[in-house]
Amino acid sequence: MAVPKKKTSKMRRRMRRSHQAITKSCLARCSHCNAAIPAHRICHNCGHYAGKAVVEVGEA
Ligand SMILES: [Zn+2]
Repeated sequence: MAVPKKKTSKMRRRMRRSHQAITKSCLARCSHCNAAIPAHRICHNCGHYAGKAVVEVGEA
């Protein structure tokens, strides 16, 4: 089994992990009700997509 020859230093480990930050998901606004929704998704609040009612949102 392959074994690392040298211990990975704190500096090397931190340099490697500098690329692992998670990015914030950017939210768009619904054109109908102005709720924050992910882009290219049907609005969960009013069921609209691209200015048209696509899905019925029930109150039950
Ligand atoms: Zn909406």
